[in-house]
Amino acid sequence: MSALESVCRYFEEAAGVIDLSPNMKKLLLTPEREVKVQVAMKLDNGEIATFVGYRMQHNSARGPMKGGLRFHHEVDAEEVLALASLMTWKTAVVGIPYGGAKGGISVDPRNLSEGELEQVTRRFVDEIQDVIGPDKDIPAPDMGTNAQVMAWIVNQYEKFHGFNPACVTGKPLELHGADGREEATGRGVGLLTEALLKKNGRSMKDATVAIQGFGNVGTFTAAYIHDCGGKVLAISDVGGAKYEPNGIDIPAAIEHVQQHRSLADFESSHTIPNEELLTLDVDVLIPAALGGVVTRENADEIRARYLIEAANGPVLPDADDILQRNNVIVLPDVLANAGGVTVSYFEWVQNQQYFRWDLERTRAELAKTLTDSFEKMWSLATEKHIPLRTAAYLMGIGRVGRATVLAGI
Ligand code: GLU
Repeated sequence: MSALESVCRYFEEAAGVIDLSPNMKKLLLTPEREVKVQVAMKLDNGEIATFVGYRMQHNSARGPMKGGLRFHHEVDAEEVLALASLMTWKTAVVGIPYGGAKGGISVDPRNLSEGELEQVTRRFVDEIQDVIGPDKDIPAPDMGTNAQVMAWIVNQYEKFHGFNPACVTGKPLELHGADGREEATGRGVGLLTEALLKKNGRSMKDATVAIQGFGNVGTFTAAYIHDCGGKVLAISDVGGAKYEPNGIDIPAAIEHVQQHRSLADFESSHTIPNEELLTLDVDVLIPAALGGVVTRENADEIRARYLIEAANGPVLPDADDILQRNNVIVLPDVLANAGGVTVSYFEWVQNQQYFRWDLERTRAELAKTLTDSFEKMWSLATEKHIPLRTAAYLMGIGRVGRATVLAGI
């Protein structure tokens, strides 16, 4: 099942609960604009390389569209569209005044030099600069992109439009970025894991955790959990999966990755097969890497009681049904990883006001936004006897639907 079919199925499930009319369903599922561009550039060796770039603008009923840019060799139109619609529901679930979009280039950034990565980014901005902007559509980091890429984007965009720091978020601090944006997604995952455990009479201190993916989201999630006294028993990245029954030394693992770029050769723990991480006997499982990793084939083997979707779309719908049957509580991506876009919103607000917040304020506002949304989702799920994901989608669809009706066509 594709990422797009997955999001549509989750949407349909929630739409069924509120009896959404077929016309409204069609309106909310149809993207506003799909942009596909050629990104041509000269490689360091003088050869010409051509890549395909996308910006999918799903919905702007609640405000300018918002969403990350993914540089990955598996990026395609359908996946980007799925991720764009996920952004529409995500921004609505946390109640920030944005719609949803997503972009990407089908390229493996690990095969490019720093100079080539800069070129590919600038050429892409040349192609899409007229459809993005602070009041239209605001890109941000996602898989394969980071603050440096955002710096090139703002610089290239400003060549066309003049000084415009709010045209992209996730920028470096020196270029109008926000303190706390880099840690925001992982911190949010940690905060929400804590909230979910608390609702179930548990606490982070007595919880064991496995995290798949040790990039931006995975590392900040692990650090937060570690700081709260939780035990991270397993972590993984492209360099392999590591397991330590007494808890991994997370600061040492982060330092190792900073120095060696992956967990390969991280020796203060045992190496296990990658797929084993998902089925470990832990309380909390956190997929924080690619989508579609929990499938019909492995869902029955998951032993964790709580699954936190730090990645976008890690659990396929058939697997979701199996997890529900097995009483695994799934905290859905549209809330679980919304800390990133929430602090992107704070960055955009600061850019518009030419006023900088300190880290303390950002963290406090982030915690408030996420816990308020969590409480609403939890009450709705309890009241209607529906899974957390359906409740989150109900909140999202309800808000986007009402905005659409109130504004009129
Ligand atoms: N790429 C992140 C996401 O999937 C962040 C998006 C943003 O900050 O706009 O939510």
